[in-house]
Amino acid sequence: MEAVSEVRAVPAGLRHDWSREEILALFALPLTELLHRAGTVHRQHFDPAEVQVSTLLSVKTGGCPEDCAYCPQAQRYHTGVDATKLMETDAVLAKARQAKAAGATRFCMGAAWRSPKDRDIPKVAEMIREVKALGLETCATLGMLSGTQAKALREAGLDYYNHNLDTAPEFYGEIIQTREYQDRLDTLSHVRDAGMKTCCGGIVGMGETREQRAGLLQALANLPAHPDSVPINKLVQVEGTPLAGTAALDPFEFVRMIAVARIMMPRSMVRLSAGRESMSDELQALCFAAGANSIFYGEKLLTTGNPDTERDLALFDRLGLRAMQVTETANTVHADIVDAEPAFGAASMGCGTGCGCAA
Ligand code: SF4
Repeated sequence: MEAVSEVRAVPAGLRHDWSREEILALFALPLTELLHRAGTVHRQHFDPAEVQVSTLLSVKTGGCPEDCAYCPQAQRYHTGVDATKLMETDAVLAKARQAKAAGATRFCMGAAWRSPKDRDIPKVAEMIREVKALGLETCATLGMLSGTQAKALREAGLDYYNHNLDTAPEFYGEIIQTREYQDRLDTLSHVRDAGMKTCCGGIVGMGETREQRAGLLQALANLPAHPDSVPINKLVQVEGTPLAGTAALDPFEFVRMIAVARIMMPRSMVRLSAGRESMSDELQALCFAAGANSIFYGEKLLTTGNPDTERDLALFDRLGLRAMQVTETANTVHADIVDAEPAFGAASMGCGTGCGCAA
């Protein structure tokens, strides 16, 4: 292991030139030192007592033609998730009003599509316009977008787009065969070009190596712009998916992943997403100490559970944390949707990845 003092200090500015070696050197630090460095970076950019809260609502669940090995919404796996049609705008608006009444300021519409068809765009654009008219920020996760589609969504008022890289480029083919890594990068490029903010992260615990976890963070941090939000999902193993039965990830390795993400993308919201339900309060506390500052709150992520609101509130109380209040920047109380039941009343979509996706 490289001596602590030899691991290069992280400069204050944002970097997009991370090498795999230096990321692995961060991973290899003694956990206490890694937490200290991540906590220091966290404090330079955020109030460490504040956590952004997000709720997901799915506007179109299941029946997805893709083959993401972790996903219960893929129609080829038998997971008991029923496919639904795209929700009507009025129903989405009812959820958005509930979300607003509950204090949310951002509303994200998630659909389990490989990509929207051009004929879907006007209806989604209508939802976006109407949600925006309620005074909410808008967020969506609909799968891959063309440049034209991204512009149309932006013109309708879409502020944020979620699209995850999922894992390292070299491991991607082990998880998904129905699309290429470059397809993801292309969509992210279209989203940025259209003037929208990006929410982009991945999933760990899928059988990847530490080097591949480092590879995911390298791909994320070396994007032309760091994602505004970086969801780090821990695989939720769903019976019927190919990844059911995968060896569990060491919880401390998950903490390291959060800490290294915080150091590499210091101004991004690092979000605990899918898999949080299976984490103890103590592990979540370690993740907050490592620089996580966003969670999905009180809902069910798609077909996978999420700790309920009361448990979250109790945990915040025990840890002396509070929900981040709204500002004009990234520090926003956040109701990303991907569900359809309640917290803010939505139901859970969820590839269980928090990808809000369509992955
Ligand atoms: S993760 Fe998204 S794209 Fe992949 S199968 Fe699930 S819904 Fe489809």
